[in-house]
Amino acid sequence: MHTSLYRRYRPQTFGEMVRQEHVVKVLKNQIEQNAVGHAYLFSGPRGTGKTTIARIFARAVNCEHPVNGSPCGECAVCRALAEGSLDILEIDAASNNGVNEMRDLREKVQYPPVSGKYKVYIVDEVHMLTDSAFNALLKTLEEPPAHAIFILATTEPHKIPATILSRCMRLDFKLIPEEDLEAHLKRILDGMGKAYEEEAVAAIARAGAGSDRDMLSIAEMCIAYEDKLTYRGVSEVLGAADFSETLALTEALLSADMPSALEGVERILSSGKAVGVLLRDLMAQLNRVAVAKTCRTAEKLLSLPKEQFASLKAVADKADGRAVLRASEVLAKAETEMRFVSSPRVCLETAVMRIALPQDDMSTDALLVRLNALEEKLKEGAFAAPAAPAVQPPEAARDKEAFAAAPPAGASQAGAAGVFDDEPPFPEEEPVFEEAYFADEPAPKKAAPVQPPKPAAAPPAERKATEPTAASPAGAAAPPAGAEVAFGKFVRTLRKTSRNGVLFTMCSDLAPVFEGGTLVLYTESGTIARSLARPEHRAVMTEVFAQLGITDFDVRLKGADAPKKADIAEELKRDFPDYPIEIK
Ligand SMILES: [Zn+2]
Repeated sequence: MHTSLYRRYRPQTFGEMVRQEHVVKVLKNQIEQNAVGHAYLFSGPRGTGKTTIARIFARAVNCEHPVNGSPCGECAVCRALAEGSLDILEIDAASNNGVNEMRDLREKVQYPPVSGKYKVYIVDEVHMLTDSAFNALLKTLEEPPAHAIFILATTEPHKIPATILSRCMRLDFKLIPEEDLEAHLKRILDGMGKAYEEEAVAAIARAGAGSDRDMLSIAEMCIAYEDKLTYRGVSEVLGAADFSETLALTEALLSADMPSALEGVERILSSGKAVGVLLRDLMAQLNRVAVAKTCRTAEKLLSLPKEQFASLKAVADKADGRAVLRASEVLAKAETEMRFVSSPRVCLETAVMRIALPQDDMSTDALLVRLNALEEKLKEGAFAAPAAPAVQPPEAARDKEAFAAAPPAGASQAGAAGVFDDEPPFPEEEPVFEEAYFADEPAPKKAAPVQPPKPAAAPPAERKATEPTAASPAGAAAPPAGAEVAFGKFVRTLRKTSRNGVLFTMCSDLAPVFEGGTLVLYTESGTIARSLARPEHRAVMTEVFAQLGITDFDVRLKGADAPKKADIAEELKRDFPDYPIEIK
């Protein structure tokens, strides 16, 4: 029977673990001092060893003679546990999110262990439990029998209720550095007697992106692909992995699954792919989906490997034809727009949100428009601190460069007319689309994905300068400059230090005002207000504000004093005559 590399080389003792020494040390000490707790929360990215360490720990606490804190593997209990036992139970919350399983657990946990001292429950992906299942679990955690130990593992600790968190000892797992992944893979390959090129191993470790499990499953594909691992072979295999990754993202988009879609974008971009390349890959993938959906000769037309075509077809069969069309349109538009914005990534994420967002949630058209306006403002230095020129200029200039990464300062002052004129600087490029349709490979044939924008500026800022309107944010409610300056710094710092593009995008919707000592950020969107109140966004905001010395801030929903929606719509329509603007 085939066993995956990850399983076959799964560490059996703490000493064999790849990194996570900070976690291992705590657990080993507790075992050696005979002072183990009743509940632990293991949090951290996938494939970093949470379940592996949980299993070692579960055996170690039961072992009669632990060696160096690890299970000895020889005593009667270790042997009994190795053969499978009722004393170590693993529950996958992703497939058991029902309250019944937790009630069942609550009842059975009362029975004493069979072979060892402890009964250990390992609940994987615990954040998937429903509220009532959490409640049932909580009741058990409140009065655990002396023989019970719970290890809750999760990739999303912010989704765990505080009542549960407060009863657990929390241990955070970290991504594994590339060199450690490399070393681990080499040990395994050497052990297998498999030959390899150094570059091939490095490429596999890089593709693992901090996850031992991901790296080993990639390594497994590569090992099956050729006798000696070569850089070239690995690149070919990764190309195929790329296909499935882009397809998964396409599927998330088409099924309006925004969390998965944004996570997919994050994952792919953090693996090093350029924004423009991802956009083109997505467009190519959508075209393949369209072909697979509509053409009887699709398989021949697309000439993909068999498995790839099968997975493509599955996505196509499920997809709504109109959703495919709409997604293609939004991405095509994003590709054009991307050339004129300073942050292509935000442009892509906005497009992804627009495709995957439930229609009635908020008007992403309006969001994008405001975002562009904000970016132009940043580029023009509207937020550059005029109040404190003595300290600010060098940093502000650097910020601007890092942030805009494109046109030299001043470029934006030139020809504002260029952008939305009859003759766009880059003519419509349907070919990207059509070629990808029939090409053997989706390789980006066009030049670099991110072109330096032609001298151009977004109309809103320009026009506002010349013909101020009542509803314009700068004109009407002119907040004290201090708030704008502080918020401007916040936005720049956020962009530099955080990968949270969604948060950044939402910030374009906020109007800053100082009220007393509090920096209040107003939004008119209930969705944005709610979303920014979520712990994961809140934590990032708090951290970034703290860097700027601001400890008191609040996000509030703008009430009666907000400009009427109709006014905003009018303003937007005037500023962007070429966009269909629809306010809901
Ligand atoms: Zn033992």
